[in-house]
Amino acid sequence: MKDPFISILNQKFNTDVMPRPEQSIWRRLATEYESHIVQESQRHFTAARVGVNQCMRCGLCCYQYPCIPRPEEIEPIAKYLGLTILELINNYMVIDTADCKTYFLRWAKHREEDIIGKMIPPARTFDREYCIFYDKENKHCLIHPVRPQEAKIVKCWRANSGNDRSCWGITAWNSDHILYFLPDFSPHILEDNKYVPPKSSMLPSKY
Ligand code: SF4
Ligand code: SF4
Repeated sequence: MKDPFISILNQKFNTDVMPRPEQSIWRRLATEYESHIVQESQRHFTAARVGVNQCMRCGLCCYQYPCIPRPEEIEPIAKYLGLTILELINNYMVIDTADCKTYFLRWAKHREEDIIGKMIPPARTFDREYCIFYDKENKHCLIHPVRPQEAKIVKCWRANSGNDRSCWGITAWNSDHILYFLPDFSPHILEDNKYVPPKSSMLPSKY
């Protein structure tokens, strides 16, 4: 299991902001998803399962929960893809939060075209697909040379893989970072249950 994912699930589940009925739904979805991931781990030939000390590129960790890039990692990835930061957000990312206070950007999954560039509704955390940058046919990460640090520390064949919280993408975000990338970002999505509008008119001043 990828520990940041478990941590995020638990934080969301415990949040006071989420109304009780939604917490109940959240609990059920989280439990179902964790069971699903256990099944998926049987379908993937992970390095740990095969018994080798190198990544088999099986994609399980890219299926379980897409990487959360640290704020400083976003610009280099946009440059690698020949995109502006805003284009990167509007083509490959969703806005997420673990505690309804700090919001961060992370990769969307395949088949999340309807929410790319927007706040991800809580239940869509459990969408069952690979990270949008995982090439399912060729089994590799399309941004491998500039992949987030979070991806580099996941080595499923090692005990305690990925346990160092200081290396997690989510720990690098504070409440101001989202405003740096999306200056008119509003978190009201969690109050009125609507998506925030696409960010096409919100060019960060630096870019
Ligand atoms: S690190 Fe991830 S992609 Fe690599 S073998 Fe392990 S589970 Fe598969
Ligand atoms: S960015 Fe690359 S390593 Fe990270 S989840 Fe996506 S495909 Fe996997």
